[in-house]
Amino acid sequence: MIPFNFDYYKPNTLAEAINLYAELDSIGKSPIYYGGGTEFISMARVHNVYTEAVIDIKDIPECNIHVLKNNKLTIGSAITLTDIAIENYFPLLSLAVKRIADHTIQDKITLGGNLAGTIIYKESILPLMVANANIVLVGINGSRTIPIMDVFFKKMKISNDELIVQAIIDEKYLTLSSIHVKRTRNEKIDYPLITLVALVEQGKINIAFSGLCDFPFRSKLLEDILNDKSLPKDERINMLIQNIPYKILDNLEGSSEYRKFMLHTMIDETLENLQEVI
Ligand SMILES: Cc1cc2nc3c(=O)[nH]c(=O)nc-3n(C[C@H](O)[C@H](O)[C@H](O)COP(=O)(O)OP(=O)(O)OC[C@H]3O[C@@H](n4cnc5c(N)ncnc54)[C@H](O)[C@@H]3O)c2cc1C
Repeated sequence: MIPFNFDYYKPNTLAEAINLYAELDSIGKSPIYYGGGTEFISMARVHNVYTEAVIDIKDIPECNIHVLKNNKLTIGSAITLTDIAIENYFPLLSLAVKRIADHTIQDKITLGGNLAGTIIYKESILPLMVANANIVLVGINGSRTIPIMDVFFKKMKISNDELIVQAIIDEKYLTLSSIHVKRTRNEKIDYPLITLVALVEQGKINIAFSGLCDFPFRSKLLEDILNDKSLPKDERINMLIQNIPYKILDNLEGSSEYRKFMLHTMIDETLENLQEVI
C-alpha cells in the first residue's frame, strides 16, 4: 500500500501536462511525471518518494510514437520495454531491454522511466549512447532536442518540469554490427554486474557500460584504446581496464576486482565477435 494520498492526472496533450506540472508545483504539490509507475510505486511503498500529484503521460500522443520514418526511428517515452522488443526496430536496444527486469515488469516499464528513474543501471541508455541518439525534451520554457551524450552525465540533466518526450535514432545505426553482453551475479534476470553494448561505426567500436561504475557511461578515451589496432588485443583490454575513468563499483553484486576480471572476458568476447567488421 502507498502510505500517502496523491491526486492522479492523465493529460491528453504535452501542453496540458507541462502546464499542469507548473500549476501543481506552484501550489506545493511536488508533482512527478508517471510512466510505467513501477519505480514510483515501489519507492512510495517504502517512503522513498513523496508527492501529492502524479501526471501520467501515457495518453500523450507524442510520448506514444513508435515509428521508423524519414530515416529516423522515433521512440516515445511512454513506449514500454515490451513494445520496443516486439517491434524490434533497433535490435541492439531490443536485446538490452529484454534483459531488464522480467516479462511482467517489462510490460510496464517505459523508456522514459528507465532513463529518468533513480535506479543506477538504466540499461536502455546504452544502445542510445552508442547510436548517438537525440532526446526530445519539453518543459515550461519550451522544447529542445539534444544529443543523449550532452544531456546525460551520471543522470539526466533535466529540470524537474522537463518531460522526456522521445528518443530519436538515425536509421543508419539500426543495422550496424553490434553486441550486447550482460553478466549478473546469479540469475539471468537481475541487475547487472556489468552490461556492455558495442556497435561498429565506420570501422570503429562505440562502446558503453552499465553496472561497472555507479552510472552508465560511454568514454572516448576507452574507445580510442579499444580501437588502437597497433596494439595486441590483450594489451588493449588491459589498458582499457586501467583507464576506466570513474570509480569501479564495489558492492554486494561483486567486488571491483571481480568486475575487472569479468570485464576482461566481456571485452574479449566483444572483440572476438566484432573483429571481422573492424
Ligand atoms: C523489479 C525491477 C527490476 C528492475 N531491473 C532493472 C534492470 O535489470 N536494469 C535496469 O536498467 N533497470 C531495472 N529496473 C529499473 C527500472 O527500469 C526503473 O525503475 C524505471 O524507472 C521504471 O520505469 P517506469 O516507467 O515504471 O518509471 P516510473 O515509476 O513511472 O517513473 C520513475 C521516475 O522517472 C520519472 N519519469 C518517468 N517517465 C518520465 C518522462 N517521460 N520524463 C521525465 N521523467 C520521467 C518519474 O517522474 C519518476 O521519478 C528494475 C525495476 C524493477 C521494479
